[in-house]
This record gives sequence, structure tokens and C-alpha cells, in this order.
Amino acid sequence: MRTRRRILILSGPTREYLDPVRYLTNASSGRQGMALAEEALSRGHAVDLVQGPSPLPAPAGSRLHAVVSSEEMLRTALEFHPDCDVLIGAAAVCDYRPVAPLDRKRKRAGGRWTLDLVPNPDILEELARRKGSRVHVGFALETDDLVGNSRRKLRAKSLDWIVANSPSAIDAENAEYIVLGADGSRRDLGTVSKTELARVLLDLVDSAQDIPGPSR
Ligand code: C5P
Repeated sequence: MRTRRRILILSGPTREYLDPVRYLTNASSGRQGMALAEEALSRGHAVDLVQGPSPLPAPAGSRLHAVVSSEEMLRTALEFHPDCDVLIGAAAVCDYRPVAPLDRKRKRAGGRWTLDLVPNPDILEELARRKGSRVHVGFALETDDLVGNSRRKLRAKSLDWIVANSPSAIDAENAEYIVLGADGSRRDLGTVSKTELARVLLDLVDSAQDIPGPSR
């Protein structure tokens, strides 16, 4: 029988507000994170879904934690990570935020507007320090040297597996994926749906034998 795990999924985009109206983000739909949550629930796992802004409904049965900014996603992830057995970081986190967001809408009459942005913390790197014996899975979105850069991220973020994909995967129904493992493995999945990718990842997670129970 399959062991019931508590799975923490980080999903969707994040938003960084410049003023009360405008924000930085990307076209992530949250579809991959939802597909992972659905697949995990169908296998009897418990799911904490930390979800950035998305028009899609969260799968029934998941514990939904809605967030907006990257720092809020980090705070929420840190709150639920201690209780999880498996972390899947599928969020397209907004890597930069404005140094000083405005509390009033900026007028066009103000003329040219130069943004001063600072990098957000890397959520998976922060959680890597607390990994313990948990299984961690991440994604890498790359415009060049897809496999090389993904392998570097796999190591830098102490992941067990990383899914390498290109920007065309954002907001798409199907995309081309390569799954790289910390054991040096490589699986080229070709073009598959996000549901199919979720099945492959949950098979890997379910096959990981050495995760102790939540009492750790
Ligand atoms: O954006 P990038 O391709 O570097 O993302 C790689 C992995 O790191 C993804 O799983 C993403 O969710 C995660 N990430 C993160 N915090 C960030 C940026 C990315 O956890 N600030």
C-alpha cells in the first residue's frame, strides 16, 4: 500500500505591486500546480496548496493558502514546510520587486518612470536549508542551455528532481519536459499535458522510499 504523504505545492505566478494598480508578474496560470494537487489528492495524499493569483479553481480537498507576492509565498511556505514530507515548487515566482512601492497611483503626467527593483529571496533555496529527509522537486524555466542550467539549479537548490522546460510551457496546455534527477538520471518526456507530467512526478515521489512519516 502507498504511504500517505503531506505534500506542499507552490503554484502559479506571484505579483509585485508598483503602486495600488500596477504590478509585475508573468503569464503563469497555476495549471501545473493544480494538476499536481489533483494527482496527489487522487492518490490519497494530503495537499497544502500555496497558490499565487490564478483564475483556476483549486482542486477540492486541498488546503488552499492564497498568496499574492513572492515574500508572502515564502512566509506561507515556511509556515507549512515543517509539516510536509514532500515539497513541489511549481510556482513561477516573480524574481524582482520594487524597492519602494508607491501608496498612490502614479500619474502619467509624472513623465518617465524608472523602476528600481531588488531581487526577491529564492524560496526553494531557503527551504533547501530546512530540507532534512524530505523530498524536494522543482522546475527550471530557461531560455538557453536548458539542461546545463537546470542541473545547476538542481544542485544549488538541493532538489531530488527538477523539471526542465522552456518559456513556451507558461500558460500552455501541453509542453515539452525533461526530468533530471539528483542521481544523474534524465528522462525526456517529449510533449505531454500538465496532468501527464503530474503523474510522472507523483510516480517518482511515491517511489522515494526513504521519507519518514510526519512525526519526524
Ligand atoms: O525561475 P527559475 O527557473 O529559476 O525557477 C526555478 C525553480 O525555483 C522553480 O521551481 C521556482 O518555483 C523556484 N523559485 C523559487 N524562488 C524564486 C525563483 C524561483 O522558489 N525566487
